[in-house]
Amino acid sequence: MKFGGTSMAGTERIRRVANIVRRQQEAGHEVAVVVSAMAGETDRLVGFAREANPLYDPAEYDVVVASGEQVTSGLLAMTLQAMGCKARSWLGWQLPIRTDNAHAKARIETIDSQAVLASMASGEIAVIPGFQGMGHDGRVTTLGRGGSDTSAVAVAAAVKADRCDIYTDVDGVYTTDPRIVAKARKLKHVTYEEMLELASVGSKVLQTRSVSLAMKEGVRVQVLSSFIDDDAPLADEIPGTMIVSDEELAKEMENLEMESQLITGIAADKNEAKVTLTRIADRPGAVAAIFGPLAQANINVDMIIQNIAKDKGETDVTFTVPAADLDRTMALLEERKDAIGFYRLISDSKVSKISVVGVGMRSHAGIAATMFRTLAERGINIQAISTSEIKVSVLIDADETELAVRVLHTAYGLDSQG
Ligand code: ADP
Ligand code: ASP
Ligand code: MG
Repeated sequence: MKFGGTSMAGTERIRRVANIVRRQQEAGHEVAVVVSAMAGETDRLVGFAREANPLYDPAEYDVVVASGEQVTSGLLAMTLQAMGCKARSWLGWQLPIRTDNAHAKARIETIDSQAVLASMASGEIAVIPGFQGMGHDGRVTTLGRGGSDTSAVAVAAAVKADRCDIYTDVDGVYTTDPRIVAKARKLKHVTYEEMLELASVGSKVLQTRSVSLAMKEGVRVQVLSSFIDDDAPLADEIPGTMIVSDEELAKEMENLEMESQLITGIAADKNEAKVTLTRIADRPGAVAAIFGPLAQANINVDMIIQNIAKDKGETDVTFTVPAADLDRTMALLEERKDAIGFYRLISDSKVSKISVVGVGMRSHAGIAATMFRTLAERGINIQAISTSEIKVSVLIDADETELAVRVLHTAYGLDSQG
């Protein structure tokens, strides 16, 4: 069981969480619980780190930001004890949860599950802080923002759990962010692949890495709400959204005699920025000269478009990078102006990437055409396009984000009837 920041925000919320945990144990389960810091706490700690030293040492940043989860794990263990349950906390270094040494974005390598398994078998509830681990040198590491989801999936895989229930502040995965589109519809099932695409293009309900880990390890994941009454159905009745394999989904569809939807979900991401280089020579090596230095600087390029050459054998190249890397990108390209040979360098961070995702795309034509037509009817201009087997993304003006998501949601027949 994993509980996110809003679920852990304060004593009263933690008491609700403890209740949910106790009910699961009473239903006959052995449970391990992974917790996030209280909502807003990690942001607050990051703020302190920045104030102390804008060029902070990532290893010390981890010491600071990992503390939020230490607090909530202790508090939940205490609250469970107050209810008469046996419980104890296991910090990342105590298990240990071993990671690489990439501070602030560490990857989990192994989890020693013996102690937790023994604790659970003895009827104790194991409470584990999410987000944190221990590097090769024994120092504290953290997994990147939103990383408690990944901790939970990793622990579930390590103890070979029947299920990994991710409790949050919405009651499942929706066709799009229900806080933005009122007509969003809750999904009973989403495939790993779809969830992976949705998470990576901006649906922050699960951290992307947690989904790829669940897919690789075959962990059964359910997303559900912790904001429930005492008599609400147990998680075993699957009130939330299950992340399932393609085969499982096909079986479910057959059982329910449902037709699969062409589009499963829509996501928006305002954290990218657009860069354009004009009048690049249209010759071999020109594009390599642009993207080589960016790769070396660890800057992830997402969408790329290169026009066909105009009259003088020149072309424009447009691409997107994470908004946080825009300044570095511009500086790097400006430095190499002569080597690359562009005329103008233009950037725009007021853009938004809208993506539609669905495995139905594999077998149906016209998904992208519907997207382009729907946006055109609303006068929304498309600045860049990228596609994968199960996704189409377009870049538009950031001011048009909500409108675009809403009209596409309607166009693909996703609106709820209620
Ligand atoms: P937690 O603190 O529990 O980890 P998060 O804030 O990380 O919670 O994730 C839950 C939030 O994800 C929801 O409040 C919702 O606004 C957002 N969200 C974005 N896209 C979706 C979606 N497709 N379905 C459900 N929630 C979504
Ligand atoms: N507390 C961490 C964060 O805010 C990890 C998490 O909640 O998943 O990013
Ligand atoms: Mg989260």
